[in-house]
Amino acid sequence: MNTKLLPVTPESIAEAGEIIRAGGLVGFPTETVYGLGANALNGDAVRMIFEAKGRPGDNPLITHVATEAEIPPLIRGHIPAAARALMDAYWPGPMTLIFPKSDLIPPEVSAGLDTVGIRMPSHPAARALIQAAGVPIAAPSANRSGRPSPTTAKHVMDDMDGRIPLILDGGPCDVGVESTVIDVTGDVPRVLRPGGVTPEMIAKACGAVEVDGAVMRPLREGEKPRSPGMKYRHYAPTGDLTIFEGEAEAVARAICARYDEAPDNAAILALPGHEALYGARRVIPLGQADSASSVAAALFAVLRQLDDEGAEHIFSEAVDAEGVGLAVMNRLGRAAAFHIVKV
Ligand code: AMP
Ligand code: MG
Repeated sequence: MNTKLLPVTPESIAEAGEIIRAGGLVGFPTETVYGLGANALNGDAVRMIFEAKGRPGDNPLITHVATEAEIPPLIRGHIPAAARALMDAYWPGPMTLIFPKSDLIPPEVSAGLDTVGIRMPSHPAARALIQAAGVPIAAPSANRSGRPSPTTAKHVMDDMDGRIPLILDGGPCDVGVESTVIDVTGDVPRVLRPGGVTPEMIAKACGAVEVDGAVMRPLREGEKPRSPGMKYRHYAPTGDLTIFEGEAEAVARAICARYDEAPDNAAILALPGHEALYGARRVIPLGQADSASSVAAALFAVLRQLDDEGAEHIFSEAVDAEGVGLAVMNRLGRAAAFHIVKV
Protein backbone atom coordinates (compact mmCIF):
# COMPACT_ATOMS: atom_id res chain seq x y z
CA MET A 1 0.00 0.00 0.00
CA ASN A 2 1.22 3.48 -0.87
CA THR A 3 1.05 5.83 2.14
CA LYS A 4 0.18 9.45 1.33
CA LEU A 5 1.42 12.26 3.59
CA LEU A 6 -0.73 15.39 3.22
CA PRO A 7 -0.75 18.72 5.05
CA VAL A 8 -3.98 19.47 6.91
CA THR A 9 -6.32 21.27 4.48
CA PRO A 10 -10.11 21.13 4.01
CA GLU A 11 -9.49 18.75 1.07
CA SER A 12 -7.21 16.35 2.98
CA ILE A 13 -9.61 16.33 5.94
CA ALA A 14 -12.49 15.45 3.58
CA GLU A 15 -10.42 12.64 2.02
CA ALA A 16 -9.44 11.32 5.47
CA GLY A 17 -13.06 11.43 6.67
CA GLU A 18 -14.08 9.45 3.58
CA ILE A 19 -11.43 6.78 4.28
CA ILE A 20 -12.63 6.40 7.88
CA ARG A 21 -16.29 6.21 6.84
CA ALA A 22 -15.35 3.50 4.34
CA GLY A 23 -13.69 1.39 7.07
CA GLY A 24 -10.03 2.43 6.52
CA LEU A 25 -7.27 3.86 8.75
CA VAL A 26 -5.81 7.38 8.93
CA GLY A 27 -2.86 8.79 10.91
CA PHE A 28 -3.79 12.20 12.31
CA PRO A 29 -2.45 14.85 14.70
CA THR A 30 -3.88 15.54 18.16
CA GLU A 31 -2.62 17.85 20.91
CA THR A 32 -1.10 14.84 22.75
CA VAL A 33 0.50 12.52 20.14
CA TYR A 34 -0.44 11.37 16.62
CA GLY A 35 -3.36 8.92 16.53
CA LEU A 36 -4.15 6.00 14.23
CA GLY A 37 -7.89 6.31 13.67
CA ALA A 38 -10.73 4.07 12.50
CA ASN A 39 -14.54 4.17 12.72
CA ALA A 40 -15.13 3.27 16.39
CA LEU A 41 -18.49 1.68 15.56
CA ASN A 42 -17.00 -0.75 13.01
CA GLY A 43 -15.28 -3.75 14.65
CA ASP A 44 -13.62 -4.87 11.39
CA ALA A 45 -12.09 -1.42 10.85
CA VAL A 46 -10.88 -1.33 14.45
CA ARG A 47 -9.27 -4.76 14.09
CA MET A 48 -7.09 -3.29 11.31
CA ILE A 49 -5.62 -0.85 13.85
CA PHE A 50 -4.36 -3.78 15.94
CA GLU A 51 -2.86 -5.37 12.80
CA ALA A 52 -1.15 -2.18 11.59
CA LYS A 53 0.38 -1.53 15.02
CA GLY A 54 1.12 -5.11 16.02
CA ARG A 55 -0.85 -4.24 19.16
CA PRO A 56 -1.81 -6.96 21.68
CA GLY A 57 -5.55 -7.65 21.40
CA ASP A 58 -6.20 -7.11 25.12
CA ASN A 59 -5.18 -3.42 25.10
CA PRO A 60 -8.31 -1.26 24.60
CA LEU A 61 -8.54 1.86 22.40
CA ILE A 62 -9.76 5.34 23.23
CA THR A 63 -12.86 6.62 21.38
CA HIS A 64 -12.62 10.24 20.21
CA VAL A 65 -15.62 12.56 19.81
CA ALA A 66 -15.90 16.18 18.68
CA THR A 67 -19.06 17.11 20.61
CA GLU A 68 -20.76 16.06 23.83
CA ALA A 69 -23.93 15.08 21.97
CA GLU A 70 -22.06 12.05 20.57
CA ILE A 71 -21.43 10.58 24.04
CA PRO A 72 -24.76 9.32 25.51
CA PRO A 73 -25.24 6.55 22.92
CA LEU A 74 -21.70 5.27 23.58
CA ILE A 75 -22.00 4.85 27.36
CA ARG A 76 -24.26 3.01 29.78
CA GLY A 77 -26.00 5.06 32.48
CA HIS A 78 -25.71 8.76 33.25
CA ILE A 79 -22.59 10.94 33.44
CA PRO A 80 -21.45 11.05 37.12
CA ALA A 81 -21.01 14.47 38.80
CA ALA A 82 -17.21 14.21 39.00
CA ALA A 83 -17.00 13.33 35.30
CA ARG A 84 -19.28 16.25 34.48
CA ALA A 85 -16.99 18.64 36.43
CA LEU A 86 -13.91 17.28 34.62
CA MET A 87 -15.57 17.54 31.21
CA ASP A 88 -16.57 21.16 31.88
CA ALA A 89 -13.07 22.07 33.07
CA TYR A 90 -10.77 20.18 30.67
CA TRP A 91 -12.58 19.19 27.47
CA PRO A 92 -11.73 19.60 24.73
CA GLY A 93 -8.22 18.55 25.80
CA PRO A 94 -5.74 15.81 26.74
CA MET A 95 -8.08 13.84 29.04
CA THR A 96 -9.76 10.43 28.60
CA LEU A 97 -12.63 9.37 30.88
CA ILE A 98 -13.57 5.72 31.44
CA PHE A 99 -17.35 4.99 31.46
CA PRO A 100 -19.40 1.78 31.39
CA LYS A 101 -19.87 1.09 27.67
CA SER A 102 -23.03 0.66 25.62
CA ASP A 103 -23.55 -2.12 23.07
CA LEU A 104 -22.71 0.33 20.26
CA ILE A 105 -19.02 0.04 21.21
CA PRO A 106 -17.70 -3.17 19.62
CA PRO A 107 -15.56 -5.55 21.74
CA GLU A 108 -12.55 -4.75 19.51
CA VAL A 109 -12.52 -1.19 20.90
CA SER A 110 -12.88 -2.16 24.55
CA ALA A 111 -10.70 -5.28 24.21
CA GLY A 112 -13.45 -7.23 25.90
CA LEU A 113 -13.82 -4.89 28.92
CA ASP A 114 -17.28 -3.55 29.80
CA THR A 115 -15.98 0.01 29.84
CA VAL A 116 -14.96 2.54 27.18
CA GLY A 117 -12.45 5.39 27.29
CA ILE A 118 -13.78 8.60 25.73
CA ARG A 119 -11.84 11.73 24.84
CA MET A 120 -12.73 15.02 23.18
CA PRO A 121 -9.46 16.29 21.67
CA SER A 122 -8.77 20.00 21.23
CA HIS A 123 -6.57 19.83 18.12
CA PRO A 124 -8.51 21.53 15.29
CA ALA A 125 -7.47 18.87 12.72
CA ALA A 126 -8.60 16.03 15.01
CA ARG A 127 -11.94 17.74 15.60
CA ALA A 128 -12.42 18.47 11.89
CA LEU A 129 -11.59 14.85 11.03
CA ILE A 130 -14.15 13.43 13.50
CA GLN A 131 -16.78 15.73 12.04
CA ALA A 132 -15.84 14.91 8.45
CA ALA A 133 -16.02 11.18 9.23
CA GLY A 134 -19.43 11.64 10.89
CA VAL A 135 -18.62 8.85 13.39
CA PRO A 136 -16.62 8.63 16.63
CA ILE A 137 -13.00 7.65 15.94
CA ALA A 138 -11.21 4.89 17.85
CA ALA A 139 -7.52 5.73 17.97
CA PRO A 140 -4.46 4.61 19.86
CA SER A 141 -1.10 6.28 19.30
CA ALA A 142 0.08 5.83 15.67
CA ASN A 143 3.34 4.00 16.49
CA ARG A 144 4.20 0.35 15.94
CA SER A 145 3.59 -1.38 19.27
CA GLY A 146 6.59 -1.05 21.61
CA ARG A 147 7.97 2.08 19.88
CA PRO A 148 7.71 5.55 21.42
CA SER A 149 4.47 7.36 20.56
CA PRO A 150 4.80 9.61 17.48
CA THR A 151 4.84 13.37 18.02
CA THR A 152 5.46 14.33 14.37
CA ALA A 153 4.01 13.11 11.07
CA LYS A 154 7.48 11.85 10.15
CA HIS A 155 7.47 9.55 13.20
CA VAL A 156 4.14 8.13 11.95
CA MET A 157 5.60 7.66 8.46
CA ASP A 158 8.67 5.91 9.93
CA ASP A 159 6.39 3.36 11.64
CA MET A 160 3.37 3.10 9.31
CA ASP A 161 4.72 3.56 5.76
CA GLY A 162 3.03 0.98 3.54
CA ARG A 163 0.52 -0.04 6.23
CA ILE A 164 -2.07 2.76 6.01
CA PRO A 165 -3.33 4.89 3.09
CA LEU A 166 -3.05 8.40 4.57
CA ILE A 167 -1.25 10.45 7.22
CA LEU A 168 -2.33 14.04 7.94
CA ASP A 169 0.60 16.31 8.83
CA GLY A 170 -0.34 18.92 11.43
CA GLY A 171 3.19 19.67 12.67
CA PRO A 172 4.64 18.67 16.05
CA CYS A 173 2.25 17.88 18.93
CA ASP A 174 1.96 20.45 21.75
CA VAL A 175 1.65 18.21 24.81
CA GLY A 176 3.86 15.36 23.61
CA VAL A 177 2.66 12.64 26.04
CA GLU A 178 -0.59 10.67 25.73
CA SER A 179 -3.83 11.76 27.40
CA THR A 180 -4.52 11.45 31.12
CA VAL A 181 -6.73 8.35 31.56
CA ILE A 182 -9.18 8.75 34.47
CA ASP A 183 -11.56 6.07 35.71
CA VAL A 184 -14.78 7.87 36.70
CA THR A 185 -16.80 4.70 37.38
CA GLY A 186 -16.05 4.75 41.15
CA ASP A 187 -16.65 7.31 43.94
CA VAL A 188 -13.34 9.16 43.50
CA PRO A 189 -11.76 9.81 40.08
CA ARG A 190 -8.70 7.61 39.69
CA VAL A 191 -5.77 8.39 37.39
CA LEU A 192 -4.82 5.20 35.54
CA ARG A 193 -2.30 6.95 33.29
CA PRO A 194 -0.90 10.44 33.99
CA GLY A 195 -0.85 13.03 31.20
CA GLY A 196 -1.35 16.71 30.43
CA VAL A 197 -4.31 17.04 32.82
CA THR A 198 -2.52 16.65 36.16
CA PRO A 199 -3.76 15.21 39.49
CA GLU A 200 -3.61 18.76 40.87
CA MET A 201 -5.95 19.94 38.07
CA ILE A 202 -8.33 17.02 38.66
CA ALA A 203 -8.55 17.73 42.40
CA LYS A 204 -9.22 21.38 41.63
CA ALA A 205 -12.17 20.54 39.36
CA CYS A 206 -13.84 17.87 41.49
CA GLY A 207 -12.39 18.02 44.98
CA ALA A 208 -10.67 14.64 45.10
CA VAL A 209 -8.37 12.39 43.08
CA GLU A 210 -6.54 9.09 43.47
CA VAL A 211 -3.50 8.04 41.46
CA ASP A 212 -3.32 4.34 40.66
CA GLY A 213 -0.41 2.65 42.44
CA ALA A 214 0.88 1.14 39.19
CA VAL A 215 1.69 4.58 37.72
CA MET A 216 5.17 4.86 39.22
CA ARG A 217 6.33 1.28 39.68
CA PRO A 218 6.57 -1.91 37.62
CA LEU A 219 3.60 -4.29 37.87
CA ARG A 220 3.90 -7.01 40.49
CA GLU A 221 3.98 -10.68 39.54
CA GLY A 222 0.45 -11.68 38.49
CA GLU A 223 -0.99 -8.16 39.07
CA LYS A 224 -3.90 -7.30 36.76
CA PRO A 225 -3.68 -3.59 35.91
CA ARG A 226 -6.83 -1.45 35.74
CA SER A 227 -5.45 0.06 32.56
CA PRO A 228 -4.35 -2.89 30.41
CA GLY A 229 -1.75 -0.73 28.61
CA MET A 230 0.29 -0.62 31.85
CA LYS A 231 1.23 -4.25 31.31
CA TYR A 232 3.33 -3.59 28.29
CA ARG A 233 6.86 -2.27 28.19
CA HIS A 234 6.22 0.80 26.08
CA TYR A 235 8.66 3.42 24.96
CA ALA A 236 11.72 1.30 25.50
CA PRO A 237 14.81 2.46 23.62
CA THR A 238 17.10 -0.33 22.38
CA GLY A 239 19.95 0.82 24.64
CA ASP A 240 19.79 0.41 28.41
CA LEU A 241 18.49 3.47 30.19
CA THR A 242 19.15 4.49 33.81
CA ILE A 243 17.58 7.52 35.51
CA PHE A 244 19.34 9.52 38.23
CA GLU A 245 17.30 11.43 40.77
CA GLY A 246 18.58 14.06 43.20
CA GLU A 247 20.21 17.47 43.41
CA ALA A 248 21.50 18.64 39.98
CA GLU A 249 25.26 18.75 40.69
CA ALA A 250 25.29 15.41 42.52
CA VAL A 251 23.27 13.82 39.70
CA ALA A 252 25.72 15.20 37.12
CA ARG A 253 28.72 13.79 39.06
CA ALA A 254 27.08 10.35 39.27
CA ILE A 255 26.13 10.39 35.58
CA CYS A 256 29.62 11.51 34.49
CA ALA A 257 31.19 8.66 36.48
CA ARG A 258 28.91 6.07 34.87
CA TYR A 259 29.33 7.62 31.40
CA ASP A 260 33.12 7.54 31.68
CA GLU A 261 33.01 3.83 32.62
CA ALA A 262 30.66 2.89 29.77
CA PRO A 263 32.36 0.91 26.95
CA ASP A 264 31.16 3.20 24.15
CA ASN A 265 28.07 4.64 22.53
CA ALA A 266 26.90 6.35 25.70
CA ALA A 267 24.54 9.33 25.83
CA ILE A 268 23.26 11.66 28.52
CA LEU A 269 19.74 13.13 28.65
CA ALA A 270 19.85 16.43 30.50
CA LEU A 271 17.52 19.31 31.19
CA PRO A 272 18.22 22.44 29.15
CA GLY A 273 20.69 24.61 31.04
CA HIS A 274 22.47 21.60 32.56
CA GLU A 275 24.66 20.82 29.52
CA ALA A 276 27.68 22.61 31.01
CA LEU A 277 27.70 20.13 33.94
CA TYR A 278 28.72 17.39 31.49
CA GLY A 279 31.72 19.01 29.75
CA ALA A 280 32.49 17.47 26.36
CA ARG A 281 30.34 14.34 26.90
CA ARG A 282 27.50 13.58 24.50
CA VAL A 283 24.38 15.30 25.82
CA ILE A 284 20.92 15.31 24.28
CA PRO A 285 18.80 18.11 25.74
CA LEU A 286 15.37 17.13 27.09
CA GLY A 287 13.43 19.96 25.44
CA GLN A 288 13.87 23.67 24.97
CA ALA A 289 13.33 24.95 28.51
CA ASP A 290 13.80 23.65 32.04
CA SER A 291 10.12 22.83 32.60
CA ALA A 292 8.21 19.57 32.81
CA SER A 293 5.93 20.56 29.92
CA SER A 294 8.92 21.25 27.67
CA VAL A 295 10.42 17.86 28.60
CA ALA A 296 7.04 16.20 27.87
CA ALA A 297 6.90 17.77 24.42
CA ALA A 298 10.41 16.55 23.56
CA LEU A 299 10.56 13.17 25.29
CA PHE A 300 9.36 10.74 22.62
CA ALA A 301 11.37 12.41 19.85
CA VAL A 302 14.46 12.09 22.06
CA LEU A 303 13.77 8.38 22.67
CA ARG A 304 13.48 7.84 18.90
CA GLN A 305 16.69 9.81 18.32
CA LEU A 306 18.57 7.51 20.76
CA ASP A 307 17.59 4.49 18.67
CA ASP A 308 18.38 6.25 15.38
CA GLU A 309 21.86 7.05 16.69
CA GLY A 310 22.43 3.58 18.15
CA ALA A 311 22.95 4.76 21.74
CA GLU A 312 23.67 1.72 23.94
CA HIS A 313 24.15 3.20 27.41
CA ILE A 314 21.82 6.05 28.30
CA PHE A 315 21.92 8.08 31.51
CA SER A 316 19.09 10.50 32.17
CA GLU A 317 18.36 13.22 34.66
CA ALA A 318 14.95 12.96 36.37
CA VAL A 319 12.33 15.70 36.58
CA ASP A 320 10.17 16.41 39.65
CA ALA A 321 7.13 14.12 39.52
CA GLU A 322 4.77 17.03 40.01
CA GLY A 323 2.26 18.47 37.56
CA VAL A 324 3.04 17.20 34.06
CA GLY A 325 6.31 15.89 35.57
CA LEU A 326 4.33 12.86 36.82
CA ALA A 327 3.49 11.93 33.21
CA VAL A 328 7.12 12.46 32.17
CA MET A 329 8.46 10.27 34.98
CA ASN A 330 5.82 7.59 34.26
CA ARG A 331 6.96 7.37 30.61
CA LEU A 332 10.69 7.78 31.31
CA GLY A 333 10.47 5.36 34.24
CA ARG A 334 8.81 2.70 32.10
CA ALA A 335 11.35 3.28 29.30
CA ALA A 336 14.02 2.55 31.93
CA ALA A 337 12.12 -0.45 33.37
CA PHE A 338 12.12 1.75 36.53
CA HIS A 339 15.91 1.67 36.91
CA ILE A 340 16.03 4.82 39.00
CA VAL A 341 19.16 5.62 41.03
CA LYS A 342 18.65 8.00 43.97
CA VAL A 343 21.77 10.14 44.33
P1 AMP B 1 -2.95 4.59 23.51
O1 AMP B 1 -4.07 5.34 22.91
O2 AMP B 1 -2.09 3.85 22.56
O3 AMP B 1 -2.16 5.50 24.36
O4 AMP B 1 -3.62 3.49 24.44
C1 AMP B 1 -4.82 3.73 25.14
C2 AMP B 1 -4.59 3.59 26.62
O5 AMP B 1 -5.82 3.82 27.30
C3 AMP B 1 -4.11 2.20 27.01
O6 AMP B 1 -3.04 2.32 27.91
C4 AMP B 1 -5.31 1.57 27.66
O7 AMP B 1 -4.93 0.68 28.66
C5 AMP B 1 -6.12 2.76 28.17
N1 AMP B 1 -7.56 2.46 28.09
C6 AMP B 1 -8.36 2.55 27.00
N2 AMP B 1 -9.61 2.13 27.27
C7 AMP B 1 -9.61 1.76 28.56
C8 AMP B 1 -10.60 1.22 29.44
N3 AMP B 1 -11.84 0.97 29.03
N4 AMP B 1 -10.23 0.96 30.72
C9 AMP B 1 -8.97 1.21 31.15
N5 AMP B 1 -8.00 1.71 30.37
C10 AMP B 1 -8.29 1.98 29.10
MG1 MG C 1 0.14 3.96 22.63
